[in-house]
Amino acid sequence: NAHPLEALPFDNHFARLPAAFYTRLPPTGIPDPYPIAVSPDAASLLSLDPEAASHPRFTDYFAGNRALPGSEPLAAVYSGHQFGMWSGQLGDGRAHLLGAVQTPAGPIELQLKGAGPTPYSRFSDGRAVLRSSVREFLCSEAMHALGVPTTRALSLIGSNLPVIREKVETAAVVTRLAPSFVRFGSFEHWSALDRNHELRVLADYVIDNFRPALRERDKPYAALLVDVCERTAEMVARWQVLGFMHGVLNTDNMSILGLTLDYGPFGFMEAFDPNHICNHSDTHGRYAWRMQPRVCHWNLLALGDALQSLIGHPDHIRELIEHSYWPHYERCFQQAANARLGLAQVLPGDADFVGETFGLLQRQRLDLTCFFRALSHLPAQASREERVVSDAPLREQFSDRDEGHAWLLAWRTRLAREGRDDATRQAAMLACNPKYVLRNWIAEAAIRAAGTGDFALVTRLLECLRHPFDEQPDNEAWSSPPPDWADGLTVSCSS
Ligand code: AMP
Ligand code: MG
Ligand code: MG
Repeated sequence: NAHPLEALPFDNHFARLPAAFYTRLPPTGIPDPYPIAVSPDAASLLSLDPEAASHPRFTDYFAGNRALPGSEPLAAVYSGHQFGMWSGQLGDGRAHLLGAVQTPAGPIELQLKGAGPTPYSRFSDGRAVLRSSVREFLCSEAMHALGVPTTRALSLIGSNLPVIREKVETAAVVTRLAPSFVRFGSFEHWSALDRNHELRVLADYVIDNFRPALRERDKPYAALLVDVCERTAEMVARWQVLGFMHGVLNTDNMSILGLTLDYGPFGFMEAFDPNHICNHSDTHGRYAWRMQPRVCHWNLLALGDALQSLIGHPDHIRELIEHSYWPHYERCFQQAANARLGLAQVLPGDADFVGETFGLLQRQRLDLTCFFRALSHLPAQASREERVVSDAPLREQFSDRDEGHAWLLAWRTRLAREGRDDATRQAAMLACNPKYVLRNWIAEAAIRAAGTGDFALVTRLLECLRHPFDEQPDNEAWSSPPPDWADGLTVSCSS
């Protein structure tokens, strides 16, 4: 009897696509790999016991050093717009798709990131450094726990192989999981080459494997575009209310399934600033927090343009996008923002109130996560004396107390229009206002420890971020704004 790890029920549908879509090749792997962390939740997606990680060959399989039975490794081709400019062909330059495993929740693909070069590596080394791999591993699982659609991360494997970036670092391999890693850029690729047949094959592939209901529709390709618009709108709306910034929203990093994809120089908003740019390489702030909804729209226009031969006239395509993206975005954003405020309904005037709330956060540079978490504990109705006590933890965050006081008054007035009882509302708020997000300074602490061979912090942090809405007395420090030592921490495209 094979160990479950070696009997994963592969059904590699991407590898059945015509050869032009990819290059088959085994990963190079990494020398002397060592396990750093495994996500138990991601393992269970594959019906693997977390104990599977102690299988003697687990590390070799997910370092890319040994072929997993049933896998058919390949690197996929795609193109894309980077920072608003057409880049031509890109492709999996450091990713190997192992294949798709059948699960009760549908097919899930396994992909190694950082296991060596491919024909699409261009001038790069096919490697990923430990630093960015720790970040991708942790953030994938953190985002999932926060309820944001995302690719997942199964394992993080390290090696002492030197990798040259600004300085010499070491290599790592993250195994990512998703139903599909097809990108907007996968479609742009065929459109730019005027290969309408391949474009259609890819659209059919996505519809038949992941969106079969769209096949029943009058115009399946138009329905696919609308589906992508709505899912992308929902994804970015969730980013906005959580203060997540992707950092590199190029069309080759946009998932056709509306998943958060390709974690690089991402960040979570701390002191709120709508113009905040999390990626040090993004000199003009194209991907600043406030730009993300617009940039996703821009990316959808690029996708729509690529789908012309399947859908029809550009005006029609534009109309499909306009009618699906913005209305859906506004609805999702308003609902999610209201939920953070403890509001179950959306009433006239709420858009203004949410705007005022973000204005308050910006003027007082409040920590986004700390603000909403503290707010979740406050009573709606209380006597003046009671409020002196109950509001103290939030009041301490305000630098302009009068403005804070006025805002709280407005908040309580708005809460009164719903009349939900405090216990119900507070429980709902605590379930959508996380105590823990992956702050850069915390990721950095885990990275520094991992760099010295101490992996306990990565695992402890993963455990913390799996339950972002729980009070965790042992991890209280990780719910704080950045300490002084983190001043000037930056992340960039270098990964
Ligand atoms: P990114 O900006 O990380 O999404 O990467 C853009 C393109 O560059 C993708 O095609 C990546 O596969 C490729 N790429 C990024 N880093 C490397 C690397 N170290 N080696 C090979 N290809 C890379
Ligand atoms: Mg990418
Ligand atoms: Mg990348």
